[in-house]
Amino acid sequence: MSRFVHPAGDRHAEILPEDRPPQAPADLNTLDPTIWPRTSSRADGSITIGGVDVRDLAEQYGTPLYVVDEEDFRSRCREYRSAFEGGEVHYAGKAFLCREAARWVMQEGLGLDVCSAGELAVALSVGFPPERITMHGNNKSPAELERAVQAGVGHIVVDSYEEIARLGFLAERHGVRPKVLIRVTVGVEAHTHEFIATAHDDQKFGLSLSSGAAAEAARRILALPQLELVGLHSHIGSQITDTAGFEVAATRLAKLMVQIQQEHGVVLPELDLGGGYGVAYVEGDETLDVKEIADSLREIVARVAQAAHLPVPRLTVEPGRSIAAIAGVTLYEVGTIKDVEGLRTYVSVDGGMSDNVRTALYGADYTARLASRASDAAPMLSRLVGKHCESGDMVVRDLWLPQDLAPGDLVAVAGTGAYCRSLASNYNYLPKPAVVAVAGGASRVIVQRETEDDLLRGQL
Ligand SMILES: *Cc1c(COP(=O)(O)O)cnc(C)c1O
Repeated sequence: MSRFVHPAGDRHAEILPEDRPPQAPADLNTLDPTIWPRTSSRADGSITIGGVDVRDLAEQYGTPLYVVDEEDFRSRCREYRSAFEGGEVHYAGKAFLCREAARWVMQEGLGLDVCSAGELAVALSVGFPPERITMHGNNKSPAELERAVQAGVGHIVVDSYEEIARLGFLAERHGVRPKVLIRVTVGVEAHTHEFIATAHDDQKFGLSLSSGAAAEAARRILALPQLELVGLHSHIGSQITDTAGFEVAATRLAKLMVQIQQEHGVVLPELDLGGGYGVAYVEGDETLDVKEIADSLREIVARVAQAAHLPVPRLTVEPGRSIAAIAGVTLYEVGTIKDVEGLRTYVSVDGGMSDNVRTALYGADYTARLASRASDAAPMLSRLVGKHCESGDMVVRDLWLPQDLAPGDLVAVAGTGAYCRSLASNYNYLPKPAVVAVAGGASRVIVQRETEDDLLRGQL
């Protein structure tokens, strides 16, 4: 499939769907196992997830509804943990974080990345071990840094010179010696199987390798006895399905490690290569084998270290999407259906860009199925749209749904477990949907649906 990168170059910018030739799938009832949650199936016509019928979920909790397959989420945590044995896996909380998800991550033995005091508060509220938390962010406030230092988080990723001075001050005040990593901008940007290696780094994250800013940061940190510099960090992109970009990043980081060793006599023991591992959102999308990527990254780091005559550093990775995305689906009730003559059928649902902004924001691809029953009706070319006052309010730009689709039917959108709830808004004063976890035939609310009171709270 030929693909291109969003020209806006947003950090989250992903892949725009090409104009796919309208080709109807053979069967509108099947659930591709790379796209749908691991425990999902069509039992009695309708879709079940975690042993729970989506019709029961809709009846009990209402729609729109985020449904999370707990076993899917946890099993991916376990796969990462065992594939990267000997290194560290930190779940990137920004993909999807709530107290229960933090507990799952904690129980499965992973670390957690946070990038605000709010995300940190969620983790600490469930007793997440602070030493397994890494604090990120290009503009951490002094208060956020202090909270992190006070809590005793395991790592703080330094993103600017200002932060180094602030951290030194805070460490002294609290009588601790935080471990820090330097966020290095390595001049590699990766999207799916393509990556661009550049010399300049025109973006807000990190300290540039090529300008010497990263080396200067190391100088400043090593001059402060209150801080312990333990390694380097880079995060090169998202939806990556190939390791070539990581190889360039690791090679560039190793060069800086050598420079630091030569200049200061300090051997850095840790290397954090970030996250960004891709998932399949629609049929035909590439998927990544966790074991393969782990073996490949380990091999790259070992080879690069050897070539630079460095001891092999401890490898950390930070998957977010690839743990959370496929575990989640969004259930909607179908409302109005409009046949726009000769073009397509617009199927409106009871949510939209407030619960999933990715389609509108960067043309993300999704797929959906009629969920409350099976259907043998012929396929109709459709567009799944929301109820917001924007014509760009689409959930799924192009998809096939059965012609007998009717108001009141439930549709499920696949792959919404990451960057949907976490990017949700109250646009048009829609309350954010509940998040329900399903497992072993039971369901439970892990984040309550917002109410009208929630929407009015805090207003004069
Ligand atoms: C967003 C982010 C991640 C996770 O990215 P995914 O694409 O969800 O895997 C990891 N590390 C850092 C520093 C990030 O900003």
